[in-house]
Amino acid sequence: MMDSISLINIEETHKRACERIVQLFSDEMKVNFIAENENHHEVAISFTEVTVIDDVCFVTGVMINDQGEAISSIETKLRLEANPIKKVKKQVKNLCLLKLMESYTGIIQPWGILTGIRPTKLYHSMRREGLSVDNISQQLSERYSVQKEKIELLANIATRQLAVVPDLDHIKNEVSIYIGIPFCPTMCAYCTFPAYAINGKNGSVEEFLTGLHYEMEVTGTWLKERNIKVTTIYYGGGTPTSITAREMDALYEKMYQVFPMADVRELTVEAGRPDTISPEKIEVLKKWNVDRISVNPQSFTNETLKAIGRHHSVEETIDKYKLSMEMGMTNINMDLIIGLPGEGVEELSHTLQVTSELKPASLTVHTLSYKRASQMTKYKEKYKVADRDEIHEMMKLAEDWMNKHSYAPYYLYRQKNILGNLENVGYAMDNHESIYNIMIMEELQTIIGLGCGASSKWVDPRTGDIDRYANPKDPQTYIDRYKDYTHKKVEMLSQLFPQ
Ligand code: SF4
Repeated sequence: MMDSISLINIEETHKRACERIVQLFSDEMKVNFIAENENHHEVAISFTEVTVIDDVCFVTGVMINDQGEAISSIETKLRLEANPIKKVKKQVKNLCLLKLMESYTGIIQPWGILTGIRPTKLYHSMRREGLSVDNISQQLSERYSVQKEKIELLANIATRQLAVVPDLDHIKNEVSIYIGIPFCPTMCAYCTFPAYAINGKNGSVEEFLTGLHYEMEVTGTWLKERNIKVTTIYYGGGTPTSITAREMDALYEKMYQVFPMADVRELTVEAGRPDTISPEKIEVLKKWNVDRISVNPQSFTNETLKAIGRHHSVEETIDKYKLSMEMGMTNINMDLIIGLPGEGVEELSHTLQVTSELKPASLTVHTLSYKRASQMTKYKEKYKVADRDEIHEMMKLAEDWMNKHSYAPYYLYRQKNILGNLENVGYAMDNHESIYNIMIMEELQTIIGLGCGASSKWVDPRTGDIDRYANPKDPQTYIDRYKDYTHKKVEMLSQLFPQ
C-alpha cells in the first residue's frame, strides 16, 4: 500500500472529507493537496468539473502515476433529487474518490463514504422522512456506496429498535441518566475511559461520592419539579462495582430518594471487571432492582488478558458470571473485542465456544480501535494485531455465530481508527436489548451525565439539535468543582426544557 497520495485542485472546504475517505484505506496514509500544475512524486488523483445534465451530476476522476501518466479513470453520477446542488457535487466527488481508491487498492469499503455519521441514525432519519425500506436501501447504496450486507444489518437493527422502543420517535421529552464512577482496580492497555486505580492518588473515593450524591440530588429535584420522566439510568465508568458494597448501597438509596423513578424502563450497572464482583455487591444490585449488569470477558484467552493488562483470569470471569446468575442477576451482557493483540480466528473461535456454554442474555462485539490516548496506541509496535483480512474473517465468524445462537443485532456504532473500518454491534436474545444503548446511539433524547468524565448530551426536543457538556475526567478536579458543574448543567437543562 502506498504511504501518500496527492489530490489535485480540491476546494478548501472539501479537503477534510477527502482526507477521511483516503484514510479509510490506511490511517497512516498522508494526503497532499496540490494545484493542477504542481509536481507530485506519488500517485495523484484529479477530477473533472462536476457537470449537471437533466438532474444528474457527473464527475470523472483520473488516477495519475508519478510519471504523470493516467493509470485509471472512473465516471460517477448521482441524481440531485431534492438535495442542494452543492452537497450533491461534493458527494459525487467523494464517491468517485472512493471508487478510484477501491479499484487501486482492491479493498472494498463496507460502509462506503459514510464517515463521521451514525449509520442507524441516518437510516431512521430516512425512515422518518417517509422512505420505504427499498428506497432507503437504494439511497444508501447509490449515495453512500454502503455494501448490501451492511444495509441489511441496518434494516434489521432499525426494525428491532422500534420493537423494543415503540415510541422511539416521540421520546424526546423524556431523558436518560448516565452516572460515571471513575475507578477501576487497574488500568487496561486499550482504555481511554475515565478510569483511575481505586487505590491510586487521584482524589479519594469518599469525596468523589459526596460530589456525586450532591449532583444526583440537585438534578433529581429539578427533574421532579419539571415533571420530566426518566427513561433509563446507566452506571458506567470506570467500573461502578469497584466501590464497596456499602458505598453502592448508599448510592442506589440516594437514587431512589431523589430521582423520579416511577417511569424508569431500565436500570443498568456495568459490573465490567469480574474482579470487582462479590456476593455482597450482587445482593445490593438485587436489593435495588438493577435490571441489567455487564460482566466483560473481552476474550476467553488468559494470555490475551495478561497482554492487555486486565489483571483477572478467564476462570474468574466464568465464576463471577455463574455467581451472578445463581444469585438471580440473569440479564447479563458480555463485551467481546475482535482484534485484541495476538488474537486471530482461532482465539475468537475459542472465545465464542466458551460463550456458548455461558449463554449471556446479550453480547456486544467490539472491533478494536486505536484510541489516541491509550497505551496500545502509544506503544503500537509492542502489540501485534491481525491484518485486515483476518479481522473481516473474525467479524464474519462472530456474525454467523450470533445468528446461529439466537442473538439478533439491535444497535451499532462505529469509531475512528477502528480495525478493518468495521463497527461495534450489540446483540441480544429476545427481550434483553438495552434501551439505554439505543438511546445513546440514536441521539433521540437528552442524556444527563453525572459523575466523573460523564458527558451530557443535550438533544433539543424542539429542534433535535445536539450539544454536549462534559464533567471533568479527573476525580480531583471533579471534587474541587462539582457544584459549579452541577449548577451549570441545571441551567442548560432549564433552557432545553423551559417551564
Ligand atoms: S475495566 Fe474498563 S474502564 Fe476500567 S481500565 Fe479496563 S477498559 Fe478501562
